[in-house]
Amino acid sequence: MHQAKKRFGQNFLTDKNLLKKIVDSAQIHDKNVLEIGPGLGALTQFIVKDAKKYLAYEIDYSLKDVLENFLSEDSNIIFQDFLESDVTNDLDTYFKGEPIHLIGNLPYYITTPIIFKFLEIDQLKTATIMVQKEVGDRMISKKNLKSYNAFSAILQYFTDVRLVVNVNRKMFNPVPKVDSMVVQLTKKETKLDKSLELKFIQIVKLSFMHKRKTLLNNLSTGLNEDKAKILESLKSLNLDEKTRAESLSVDDFITLTEKLYK
Ligand code: SAM
Repeated sequence: MHQAKKRFGQNFLTDKNLLKKIVDSAQIHDKNVLEIGPGLGALTQFIVKDAKKYLAYEIDYSLKDVLENFLSEDSNIIFQDFLESDVTNDLDTYFKGEPIHLIGNLPYYITTPIIFKFLEIDQLKTATIMVQKEVGDRMISKKNLKSYNAFSAILQYFTDVRLVVNVNRKMFNPVPKVDSMVVQLTKKETKLDKSLELKFIQIVKLSFMHKRKTLLNNLSTGLNEDKAKILESLKSLNLDEKTRAESLSVDDFITLTEKLYK
């Protein structure tokens, strides 16, 4: 029996219906799949059967014997820390430049770096991942909701985000302290010129920086720009000096970036 290791965020899934729902939602039939943290192979058993080629990273070498039972000819597991690996190079070598779909019941302490890696690597097209419920709420949130923040807007600029299923903590063994959610990110055509994307990210981050300040104050201080110039851009979006960041949609932030810097 494998003893779950807390330091590796090991909480395992066993419910067959839930596992199938996650794998089905990822739509990986005959596609290339990257799994992060296969653990005892709960998802792996279904993925390997359905995918074209399969590669995984698992930090815990002691799971090698268990996991190897699930592998077939077109599958492989790298026993390494995903965050310390040369992922771009590994993927390119193994999948030869073809599109890849990411799946992972991730340990929560590495959710954010994994999402940024996913965004950074072109070859990765979708990510179906388990996240802490509060994080998932921010990922799918829309303007004017309490959970809407800079992360919501930046993520939704690069991807379409959808809720796959809410997962009660009791579905895991051992039971963690928080509930979870499976979300799916699908990369999309981005709307701004590459040269403006960094500005967009900066504007979104600055806008949400001081929650109690208005958008106008946050931006004029952070961007070191004239208030009048920013106010004029806001007005062209039918917004005024009292507007706060949470009332702007992703498209509003895009338009604001263009008005200010195009
Ligand atoms: N996928 C399995 C399941 O659904 O039952 C296990 C999920 S468990 C929440 C997370 C898994 O990620 C563990 O097997 C853990 O050892 C592995 N892991 C943790 N940190 C990792 C890292 N930095 N790189 C690769 N795998 C990691």
